Amino acid sequence: MTTPPHAQEELDLIAQTVDRVSTADAAVLAELRTEVLGRKAGKLTLILRSLGSLPPEQRRLLGARANQIKQALETAIAERERVLQDDTRRTVDVDGTMPARHAWRGARHPVLAVVDEICEIFKELGFTRVSGPEAETEDYNFTKLNMPLDHPAADEHDTFYLGPGALLRTHTSPVQARVMEQYQPPIRIVVPGRVYRRDAFDPSHSPVFEQIEGLAVDEGISFVDFKAGIDYFVKRFFSPDTVVRFRPSFFPFTEPSAEVDVQCQMCKGSGCATCKQTGYLEIMGAGMVHPAVFENCGIDPERYTGYAFGMGPDRITMLRHGIPDIRLLFENDMRFLSQFVS
Ligand SMILES: [Zn+2]
Repeated sequence: MTTPPHAQEELDLIAQTVDRVSTADAAVLAELRTEVLGRKAGKLTLILRSLGSLPPEQRRLLGARANQIKQALETAIAERERVLQDDTRRTVDVDGTMPARHAWRGARHPVLAVVDEICEIFKELGFTRVSGPEAETEDYNFTKLNMPLDHPAADEHDTFYLGPGALLRTHTSPVQARVMEQYQPPIRIVVPGRVYRRDAFDPSHSPVFEQIEGLAVDEGISFVDFKAGIDYFVKRFFSPDTVVRFRPSFFPFTEPSAEVDVQCQMCKGSGCATCKQTGYLEIMGAGMVHPAVFENCGIDPERYTGYAFGMGPDRITMLRHGIPDIRLLFENDMRFLSQFVS
């Protein structure tokens, strides 16, 4: 091993290459690395290798300098490589002809937005939102609600049975029974949830749909309180000038019973296709809770009275937005749903 001639001058030249690194491209960088740091014939490698043969004093000075340059050079090369790599990545990623990426924004389903709105309005009247099981027993779904099993609504053809005596609830009313068994009045609840019936899946029917049930029980609740409560809701939900109509009806769990109509929102009562030229749309079934239901659920019908109502948020959503087909609410088609992103 021989000492390279003019090692000091050689080191000065090598030190200058550090400055060249910061502007080098990938090819020049590779050349530089071989030329200076190459294992076999790199200029700096040779100098470092020759140090052993130098007198101690010279070895110390030259060695320190050579190592300092080596370190500076390696750092500079690593840094330059990182920059070059970033640039490459950037160049590859950008394609000016690609369409912009669409940032999808989520929103509540239009039916759930209506459910929340209805519950909020009843909250103003002191109602609490509760929920209950979708798999029910015949007892809670029918019997306790004064619907004997031979009642038409309990017909097997309308009900999804899960097994003997077990079924998918056909309405949210079983939650009324469960709450009345657990709590004594005053009771004021709204119960949103999914219900199931063996219906066709066509523009106006679905085997699964949303329902909201309401129940108010206390001493001295009269038919006037019932009408006032419903009237308040309708005017808050639709508009203050909405005309409400109560039509006598029959349900096994209420007596007297009424169907509640509101003036058609589309034609303002003059008659159109939506309201089938009647000027009114039915929005709920309701009435004063039947004393037999109170008895079945452990509430004294001599002391307490109350009213109950049930409505279909799917239908109300369709009316509000002019949606012609209930199936649109279940198909999760983004072209439909994205209209409700506000
Ligand atoms: Zn109409």
